[in-house]
Amino acid sequence: MKVLSETDTGKALCEYCQAVVSTHYVRRDVPFSDGQGVVENVLVGVCDRCDAVIAIPSQSTPVIHDVVKQLR
Ligand SMILES: [Zn+2]
Repeated sequence: MKVLSETDTGKALCEYCQAVVSTHYVRRDVPFSDGQGVVENVLVGVCDRCDAVIAIPSQSTPVIHDVVKQLR
C-alpha cells in the first residue's frame, strides 16, 4: 500500500465541482457526516478548486474507525 503524505497530489471526482479535479493532501479535523464527532488530524484529500474533503486515503480509515469505536 502506498502511504501518502502531505506532499502528495492526485485526482478525484469532486461532488461539489461535479468534475474530476486535482487534489492535494492535508491533515484536517474531519467531522463525521452525522455531526456526532470529529476525527482530529487525519490525512485527507482536498479538492484544489473548492477546498472540500473529497478523498479519505485507505491509511486514514483505521484511524477513523478507532475514533468511532471510542465514541460508542
Ligand atoms: Zn471541488
